[in-house]
Amino acid sequence: AKEAGRNTLRFFNQDMQDIINVRASLEHELRIAVDKSHFELYYQVQVNAAKQALGAEALIRWPHRKHGLVSPGKFIPLAEVTGLIVPIGRWVVETACAQLGEWQKDALTRDLSLAVNVSALQFRQSDFVTQVQAAVQRHAIPPSLLKLELTESLLQEDIDITVATMTALKEVGVQFSLDDFGTGYSSLQYLKQLPLNQFKIDQSFVRDITTNSSDEAIVKTIISMAQTLHIEVIAEGVETEEQRQLLLACGCTVFQGYLFSKPVPMDEFEAMLRDDQNM
Ligand code: C2E
Ligand code: CA
Ligand code: CA
Ligand code: CA
Repeated sequence: AKEAGRNTLRFFNQDMQDIINVRASLEHELRIAVDKSHFELYYQVQVNAAKQALGAEALIRWPHRKHGLVSPGKFIPLAEVTGLIVPIGRWVVETACAQLGEWQKDALTRDLSLAVNVSALQFRQSDFVTQVQAAVQRHAIPPSLLKLELTESLLQEDIDITVATMTALKEVGVQFSLDDFGTGYSSLQYLKQLPLNQFKIDQSFVRDITTNSSDEAIVKTIISMAQTLHIEVIAEGVETEEQRQLLLACGCTVFQGYLFSKPVPMDEFEAMLRDDQNM
């Protein structure tokens, strides 16, 4: 029994060591990827009630020689604890603005907005506003086409800094969307202090909306809050026509999800638009 116990312990230690080694090598590779800007943005279309494209959300991918395209769920948490999210986030803002600049040259894409995800650490950098402003100016884009997706937890960290940063960014002219809405604890009182343009209903409420009446009730509450505050509502994770119909009936006006398109590289995104303006 003692033997077995020792072996178990040894295996356990080996497993722990493996985890530590994998993490260390992933971190090392992520640092190299950051140095070389070795990332890609994928674009997922956002549509109106008539299924016309209004814009897209940019979602980062890390092409890895061994693991293929690494999804952000696998490396963004590591990027956050190591601080690498700051240069990664800078690259995302710069690349999104460059793309908006390209879109300006074509009547088909000129009016499309582009949403980017912003991490708390990135948002708290003292030069974040200057960075966003510089990228908007460098690519000569209408700032209102750039939408920053912020989460409730990010906004609640330090209300004074949040309000100051958002006010400065509003001066620049960019838009704000509250991502994963409904998963946090924001009160109406709190939200009305912030210059938000959009609430993004979290996909966890959309998933079961056609079968779960409390999810439907939550969605209706979010939409009526939004209407009170004159804020647009987008639903994410829309996968079926039934979900779309119900969301529409609840008063939702903008949609995103696999029903219309999964996130795709820019050449596919543009081909999709050229092919058919109704998704
Ligand atoms: P998110 O911002 O909530 O993005 C939505 C996620 O849902 C994306 O996963 C998207 O591909 C996926 N999705 C879209 N439509 C559907 C659908 O109909 N059904 C289902 N089941 N899923 C759908 P993805 O691309 O893997 O991104 C995961 C998360 O990683 C994002 O969640 C966001 O929090 C983070 N992320 C992505 N790109 C960036 C980035 O550039 N910067 C930062 N800081 N975070 C990012
Ligand atoms: Ca998002
Ligand atoms: Ca989301
Ligand atoms: Ca179509």
